[in-house]
Amino acid sequence: MTIRKPSSAVPKQAGAELPINIAIVGLGKIARDQHLPALAANGAFKLIAIASPHNKLDDLPSYKSLDSLLKAHAELTAVSLCTTPQVRYETALHALQYGCHVLLEKPPGVTVSEVLALIDVAREKKLTLFASWHSRHARAVEPARRWLAERKVMSATVNWKEDVRVWHPGQKWIWRAGGLGVFDPGINALSILTRIIPSALALKEAELSFPANCETPIAAQLALESTGGASVRVSLDFLQTGPQSWDIEIETDAGRLTLCMGGAMMFVDGKPVDIGPSEEYPNLYAHFANLVHQQHIDADVAPLQLVADAFLCGRRVEVAPFVE
Ligand code: NAP
Repeated sequence: MTIRKPSSAVPKQAGAELPINIAIVGLGKIARDQHLPALAANGAFKLIAIASPHNKLDDLPSYKSLDSLLKAHAELTAVSLCTTPQVRYETALHALQYGCHVLLEKPPGVTVSEVLALIDVAREKKLTLFASWHSRHARAVEPARRWLAERKVMSATVNWKEDVRVWHPGQKWIWRAGGLGVFDPGINALSILTRIIPSALALKEAELSFPANCETPIAAQLALESTGGASVRVSLDFLQTGPQSWDIEIETDAGRLTLCMGGAMMFVDGKPVDIGPSEEYPNLYAHFANLVHQQHIDADVAPLQLVADAFLCGRRVEVAPFVE
């Protein structure tokens, strides 16, 4: 059952100086690694509670579900949803209907229509919905976007290859429908591409490799075209051992741009560009605070749309079962 915050208790942000009372929903790896430290360092927010079925924090009120948290904390203004993607929509809908601003970890849903529906609800309720793409906050992304805006993109190559056993140990949800498989990291590359390439990208072909015992792919090859005439090749692999690859290389009519380490490093014609240290999650929360104060929606579905299109048109290849 959806409970609703009494209208008198709907929080008002009188000015940017008021901290936003926020709760984290889903206390897993990313919440602990990135969201807790980013919130602790950002005076625009006050973390007041946690909701997670099994995990809790000793020094904060912790609840097993968002519903029990909402019943106990009428002062809540916003939630940060760090759950597995499969429960994102229900949790976000509940929070919006209650009257909370919502930050969605990536991917913002398991289908595009889920995200579009959430945008509708947020708009109707005049609440913030932030479909966050943490890789877009990597330090090289905005300089790269500005650099490309003045050039003609001819082609691009993406190699996004990592060892799932190192980065996602024991995360069974990745292999279940809606968990995205290799697109869980791969969508980060697509979130950068769709931000920095000046024209729209259309997915033309895909080949998806599914382990015989998994519902999601372990590798993928994509071919895309930009409306500006560039061809883009994307290669994703979840079984890369040794050095990992989170690289994007873009050829233009006036030079070659390379982004390495997921957008933490930038090179032009092989020469490093000084862009400072990467601070993805601090930047992401600074943006969320602005969105909440302005009651704006920022929910770009383009990266998720490309993944959905790969599932729509991709050839399916069966490969060896995945063993953890
Ligand atoms: P994870 O370690 O498996 O954590 C997911 C958490 O979701 C679990 O701790 C679980 O809580 C919680 N959860 C599941 N159902 C819930 C529900 N109904 N209500 C509240 N909480 C629920 O996964 P993760 O690596 O943190 O990834 C979570 C999301 O962040 C994914 O969408 C992923 O793509 C994204 N992300 C991950 C990384 C990364 O490096 N891992 C980086 C960026 C983004 P309990 O344990 O308490 O049951």
